[in-house]
This record gives sequence, C-alpha cells and structure tokens, in this order.
Amino acid sequence: MQHLGTDLARAASVLRSGGLVGMPTETVYGLAANALDEVAVARIFDAKNRPHFDPLIVHLADWNDVDRVAADVPAEARALWAALGPAALTYVLPKRPEVPDLVTSGLDSVAVRIPQLELARQLIASAGVPVAAPSANPFGFVSPTTAQHVADQLADQVDYILDGGPCSVGVESTIVSWPEGRAVVLRLGGIPVEVLADVLGYVPEVQRSSSQPSAPGMLESHYAPGKPVVLVPQGFDWATAPRSPEVRLLAWSLGSHGLEALTTSGSCRQGAQRLFAALREFAASDEQVLWMELAPEEGLGRAINDRLRRAAHRAEG
Ligand code: AMP
Ligand code: MG
Repeated sequence: MQHLGTDLARAASVLRSGGLVGMPTETVYGLAANALDEVAVARIFDAKNRPHFDPLIVHLADWNDVDRVAADVPAEARALWAALGPAALTYVLPKRPEVPDLVTSGLDSVAVRIPQLELARQLIASAGVPVAAPSANPFGFVSPTTAQHVADQLADQVDYILDGGPCSVGVESTIVSWPEGRAVVLRLGGIPVEVLADVLGYVPEVQRSSSQPSAPGMLESHYAPGKPVVLVPQGFDWATAPRSPEVRLLAWSLGSHGLEALTTSGSCRQGAQRLFAALREFAASDEQVLWMELAPEEGLGRAINDRLRRAAHRAEG
C-alpha cells in the first residue's frame, strides 16, 4: 500500500497539517493526530468510531514538554519519570486549558505518555506538537501490533502509516493517576505494578474495570475478536478440553499437551508481544470458539489477563 512506509518526514508533515498517522510505539500502534487541533482530534474519534466519553492519551517527545499540557506534576510522577524514563507508562495530570476538551472528554486532567520507542519520539519531535493517539483499531476490537494490522483495519481512514516494525511490549501502557495524593493504577499495562511499587515505596491501588462511562477506558468488554473466548486457568488439564475443528485451543506455554501455545517457555514478555496477534489470528480463522489459558497472575501477566478477560467478556442478558 502506497501510504504505508518508513518516511518519518512525511508522517510528521501529515501530523502538522491536521492529518492522521498510524504511529508505531513499543506498546501498540496508535492512531495519531495533533492534540491541539480539535478538528484533527475529531477525525480520530470518527475513524475509530470511539465514544466521546473515552479520553485520549497525549504523547510527548520529551518530559521537558510536560508543562505544555499539564498544569501541575506531583512529586511521585517526577520520581517515576526519573526512575523509568520513556516507558509504557501514562501519567494522568491536571490539564492546561490549551488541551481541547475533546481530548480529555471534558475532564480537568490529561493523560500524558513519553513512549520508549525512539522512532515515536522522533516523529513527535519532528511534528513539533503534542500527539493524541489511541490504539489504531475500530473501538472495542483487538489492538494492532504491526503496521499491517493498522492497514488491515483502518487503511481508508489514515493518511500515512509509519512502519516501525512489530511492537516490543505488545500491550497498552499502564495508566497511573493521583486522585487524592496517592498513586492509583487506572489500567494495568506494560509497566508492572511491582515496578511502580519499587519506586513509590508502596503498592498502588488498582482500580477495577467497569461498564460505567464515568470510568472511561475501563470498559468490561474490549479487545474483542468478535467470537467467544473461553479462559482456562494456568496449569489447566487440556485433556478435558473439547477437540473439534470448530474450537481453537491455545495453551500458555509449549508442553506435553502437544498444543499450540502463546509462548515457547512461559515468558510474560513474549506472551504480551504475541497476545493481540494471536487474537487476530483466531478472529480471521474459521474456528468459532477460542479456549485460551491465562497467564500467571503477576507482573506483566496481570496486564495480559486483564486484556484476555475483557476479550472474553460478554454482556449479560
Ligand atoms: P487508549 O484507548 O489506549 O488510548 O487509552 C486511553 C485511556 O486512557 C482511556 O480509555 C482512559 O482509560 C485513560 N485516560 C485518558 N485520559 C484520562 C484522564 N484524563 N483521566 C483518566 N483516564 C484517562
Ligand atoms: Mg484501545
């Protein structure tokens, strides 16, 4: 496809002129626009069919730019930045009035991230503007972890897709907020809670997902492959699973069960990298149901399980 490539200058110029760019990051590919251009931001919501109550993350090239969008930065946020630098970590901070309400869904806070992937920071720096970017997929569906995934789902809506190769982390950023002084994790993600706890000196509370729009982005059903997913616990006895051409079985790691597995040796890093591609493969297959084994409930495994539970969630009634 003509508008997928590695032309950084072209991608930056699209952003500057109010267009949409498929942006590589270490977490997932973003659908990026100039965060200060309301018309451009509106195009993101249209392209994704994303509800307006779901605010966007603003991506910056450097922590020095944080004052352009945030009115205040808590000492703990500075400490996390000092310890972790550019990372799969998003900081929710009091916003400056220059950030359009459309970006923050009318909240008085703004979510800010400095991505670890150097190509992403180069793109943002060369565009010279803060960049709003949700994952580059239709709302509610599986997130993209390659440039081709973006092309498959949003080719007609993006002006250019910058190919930065497959995402090294593979799940979205961890989101941390300071509603009443202490840090609260709003979404599990690429930076494990244990890593935050090491820096903060305490274990931050993790907020539960909800179907209430008042808790944006924490919807119970998300990352959906469009067909049923059955989750089984770690160490599941696969001999008891149904065997049929209709059912896809995906174990956590390779083993004596002889089944396909998400990881070769049980590494959560590898599991996160492969997660969304595996859900996409199932979505595109003829199989009707996916039986999938959960990750260990620790570290990055918690973010993997969070995505799997939401991929498997079906509205009741
Ligand atoms: P994504 O869909 O990966 O772009 O993630 C965006 C998510 O970040 C939203 O769905 C919210 O959960 C969260 N978020 C963004 N801005 C804010 C904010 N100002 N306050 C709380 N959460 C936010
Ligand atoms: Mg998303």
